[in-house]
Amino acid sequence: MTTDPITSHLKETRRFEPSAEFAAQARVSSEVYAKMYTESVNDPESFWRRETSELVFRTPWTKTLSWTLPHAKWFEGATLNITESCLDRHLTTARRNKAAIIWEGELSGNTRTMTYAELHREVVLFADALKRHGVEKGDRVAIYMGMVPEVAVAMLACARIGAPHTVVFGGFAADALRDRIADCAAKVVITQDGGYRRGGVLRLKDVVDQALNQPQSASVQKCFVYRHLGEEVCPVAMKSGRDVWWHESVDPTATRRDPLTIVESEHPLFILYTSGSTGKPKGVLHTTAGYLAGVHVTSKYVFDLREEDLYWCTADVGWVTGHSYIVYGPLSNGATCFMYEGAPNYPDWGRFWRMIEKHRISILYTAPTAIRAFMRQGDEIVQKSDLSSLRLLGTVGEPINPEAWVWYHKLVGGGRCPIVDTWWQTETGSIMMTTLPGASASKPGSTGLPMFGVVPDVVTKDGKSVGANEGGFLVLRKPWPSMLRTVWGDDERFRRTYFSDVPDCYFTGDGARRDEDGYFWVVGRIDDVLNVAGHRIGTAEIESALVSHPAVAEAAAVGRPDDLKGQALVVFVTLRPGHTADSSLSAKLGDHVGKEIGKFAKPDAIRFTDGLPKTRSGKIMRRLLKDVAAGRESTGDTSTLEDLNVLAKLRSNEE
Ligand code: ATP
Ligand code: MG
Repeated sequence: MTTDPITSHLKETRRFEPSAEFAAQARVSSEVYAKMYTESVNDPESFWRRETSELVFRTPWTKTLSWTLPHAKWFEGATLNITESCLDRHLTTARRNKAAIIWEGELSGNTRTMTYAELHREVVLFADALKRHGVEKGDRVAIYMGMVPEVAVAMLACARIGAPHTVVFGGFAADALRDRIADCAAKVVITQDGGYRRGGVLRLKDVVDQALNQPQSASVQKCFVYRHLGEEVCPVAMKSGRDVWWHESVDPTATRRDPLTIVESEHPLFILYTSGSTGKPKGVLHTTAGYLAGVHVTSKYVFDLREEDLYWCTADVGWVTGHSYIVYGPLSNGATCFMYEGAPNYPDWGRFWRMIEKHRISILYTAPTAIRAFMRQGDEIVQKSDLSSLRLLGTVGEPINPEAWVWYHKLVGGGRCPIVDTWWQTETGSIMMTTLPGASASKPGSTGLPMFGVVPDVVTKDGKSVGANEGGFLVLRKPWPSMLRTVWGDDERFRRTYFSDVPDCYFTGDGARRDEDGYFWVVGRIDDVLNVAGHRIGTAEIESALVSHPAVAEAAAVGRPDDLKGQALVVFVTLRPGHTADSSLSAKLGDHVGKEIGKFAKPDAIRFTDGLPKTRSGKIMRRLLKDVAAGRESTGDTSTLEDLNVLAKLRSNEE
């Protein structure tokens, strides 16, 4: 890793203040934010006691934090079961019969609603079934399902008996599933027959069979199968002695013997593998009380959750965003979550917008990759639907190009909705930075200010803070409740990855700058930083400059070894409809980057492509593009690549 400073050249000066109307009603005003933040850092004990007071602890904690770098323990002495905060606590209130989940199927468009009382009952019944089939506290359970309410039931049922879950995204192939099962030695797998995706049937149980037929999966003793599509649409083979139908496993009288298991604050809640943007996925371990505190507080304040909101996080439950902001965070706040089974473009790109109109969704939380895909389809598709129910928008997953931010704000938010750009990671468990709606102005492309208890900094490799607008390593200086506790089975990798590059703090792997107002701007991954004519510059700046050209839908910038310059700048570009990929456009894009950033940053090569290689969570995989640009084979992990064809196509078009 080079230690030279990163410089920043793209200046984005637009500011969007929250409307007076929103600010007047918001849970947190700017003064309150400043006060709460100061308290959270200086007196975490009092902050977290108050902010978790509505949650259910069987015994309160005696010690807020024990910290011996890199190991943190939060809220020692507390005992709890996280599902009591997410479910039971609502049953004695008016939320008892309030919708917890409103679900829409892809193909049928049918809706299912599950109230808090129903969800609680399903969780207790299924927890009992798991227990009767041998799942004990501490056993790992792999969940490989689509987006159906039962995936939340499965997760919560595991948590109810203290069995850590590992949710594997339902789009992963058998080998990726097998590796994750093997890594955490899962005892049980929970799956479903199949689900709809882009009008086709995704045969999930078949994939599980392929994974379980391999010797690496020998730890698995039982496989539960939820019947979603039915025998006619998706027949499955049931292996006797191993496979159990979900509906046959539950006993309706089991509510009388609730298997609720009270655990210690640091009991493992789940293991989740990272997206694999930068390398082989890491099995991130989260524990119970600290994680609950983090997701509860951030869900409430970042999304400004109200009793009457219909909140939609479009992530798949297989990613951390789904864990924290579809399941644990919103449910601990008693919110109503919308859940959609399928693809954003089925049967066409208007689906999301029609669902927002139909259900009158009020909060939408999605990813820049989705926003760019929608932008590429043109404005009319969005404009056809009435989106006036929306009051707040959010993004997560990658730096958002300011152009995409402004499009989202204008077209989707009607210029009226604040946007919370939330920076966080699988490892951080909950949102670490954002602009709280109503409290702070947004700047397109900036992820804003630290959340409560979070102390981010931009530093040099030896840990010294850099000045305003200078680039550097993004670190978190203090432990926070929802931080990962280790990499499952590899504490050495945990220490090496997060606590060895920069002394005395958690290193995020990202590069950033902090501006004169204290706002953070993530400029890309440190490993991807470009060396352009002697300047070290983050990928996000070059990419955002390109996306601000009307012809460009999406861009990825990488370095290629060059004999003369040391490194040449290669950009991969996908176009919006109606533009032709030719040398005249190349020249125009080169000039455009020159104008936005500086002549030195004109790309050495522009490669037009129909698609960019992405992880299955939708992030651009620049490490593979580096290999393509250098004309070499990829030797790194490609198991999380969404579509191998994209890579093959790029290679076959090599100059
Ligand atoms: P791996 O760690 O396996 O390479 P990954 O880092 O993509 O995969 P995630 O935990 O899903 O896995 O993603 C976290 C990363 O996503 C952050 O480190 C950051 O690079 C990026 N990110 C997330 N949200 C934002 C945001 N709002 N702005 C900028 N970058 C973001
Ligand atoms: Mg990462």
